[in-house]
Amino acid sequence: MNRNTAKELAALTRGKVLLQVPLSRHTSLKVGGCADMMICPVHPEEVQSIIRFCAERAIPHLVMGAGTNLLVRDGGIRGLVIKLTRGFGKITLISPEGGQPMLRAEAGTSLRRLLAVCLEKQLSGLEFTSGIPGSLGGAWAMNAGARGREMADITQALTLLTPRGEIEETGNPGLCFDYRRLRLPPGTIILKGLLRVRRGSRNVIAGEVEMINRQRRQTQPLDLPSAGSVFKNPPGDAAGRLIERAGLKGRRAGGAQISEQHANFIVNRGGATARDILTLMDMMQTGVHSATGILLEPELQVVGGFIVKQAADHPLFGIGKAGHRISAGWLLPLGSQPRSNNPPGAGKRHWF
Ligand SMILES: Cc1cc2nc3c(=O)[nH]c(=O)nc-3n(C[C@H](O)[C@H](O)[C@H](O)COP(=O)(O)OP(=O)(O)OC[C@H]3O[C@@H](n4cnc5c(N)ncnc54)[C@H](O)[C@@H]3O)c2cc1C
Repeated sequence: MNRNTAKELAALTRGKVLLQVPLSRHTSLKVGGCADMMICPVHPEEVQSIIRFCAERAIPHLVMGAGTNLLVRDGGIRGLVIKLTRGFGKITLISPEGGQPMLRAEAGTSLRRLLAVCLEKQLSGLEFTSGIPGSLGGAWAMNAGARGREMADITQALTLLTPRGEIEETGNPGLCFDYRRLRLPPGTIILKGLLRVRRGSRNVIAGEVEMINRQRRQTQPLDLPSAGSVFKNPPGDAAGRLIERAGLKGRRAGGAQISEQHANFIVNRGGATARDILTLMDMMQTGVHSATGILLEPELQVVGGFIVKQAADHPLFGIGKAGHRISAGWLLPLGSQPRSNNPPGAGKRHWF
């Protein structure tokens, strides 16, 4: 790693900066190789400066929240990971007299904290997010949902950072929310947004949250690392039911297992690799397809395997051998396995 470039990037934030950071420590599945560099900015203007810097120097970057819907390949991520979590979590209540209350919240806010604020202020509308363990940014990007409700239903507007580093606010009608995804131009970062809420009663909200949490504990393997549902539900059916009908519940690959409790969850029983999880995903997709003709679409975001060509000559990542393959983007097709290219010293944590 070119120390000067890393130092210049580090100078753009008051947040944490880490080098050669194992993403297994930053994802709920607890698998994945190293990212060359991770920055945890604490202010929207910091993210803007970082993105402009990356655009000028052609530094590849990926934004993540709490990593609860991410599978990072074992080869890790060549480039910068911008992690928006705790330090990027300002919440403001906008409460016009006689009008509808709204919450303005930054992308790094955890859904759990937002729900706690709603409970404290007696605001209803976000109960369906109970038990979804990610950040608000990740929830918007994934259009996270449960029990027939989703982020699209409560979002008034989002503040977006374009890949060129410009900040724009877009109202809900201009946002393309889809089932478990928000269609945004590649490289766009959600900085913050406005959520519609209603005045409610603390007891009713708390009762609903408790009921949802109880149901989750009964039906989901919450005591083992996972990333929630691996596949989206196909129209009119449930992916878990189809995987179970294909006889795949409990199947293992290395340290990973298709949960015996919920067939659409893959759990890490200890020592699983991304390859193990991809093997099970292939098995689930193929098994359901041959039994029903339905091709399940992954909900889990598979990232990594981005290997910088001529890595030794790259101004920032002069850390590997020259002449590596370069892949088309952050997301590689399910099943393609780039070889591991962890640089020497991977796993060491550095602080600036
Ligand atoms: C036990 C368990 C239960 C779950 N239950 C549910 C459920 O009921 N419903 C549901 O929908 N999901 C569920 N999930 C999945 C996951 O929690 C949600 O998708 C969550 O919203 C992801 O948020 P995150 O911060 O972890 O995102 P990450 O995993 O960090 O990122 C997910 C995607 O969002 C993108 N992203 C993240 N932040 C931003 C940003 N600020 N700007 C632009 N893009 C961004 C990332 O690049 C990535 O593509 C569950 C997961 C677990 C582990």
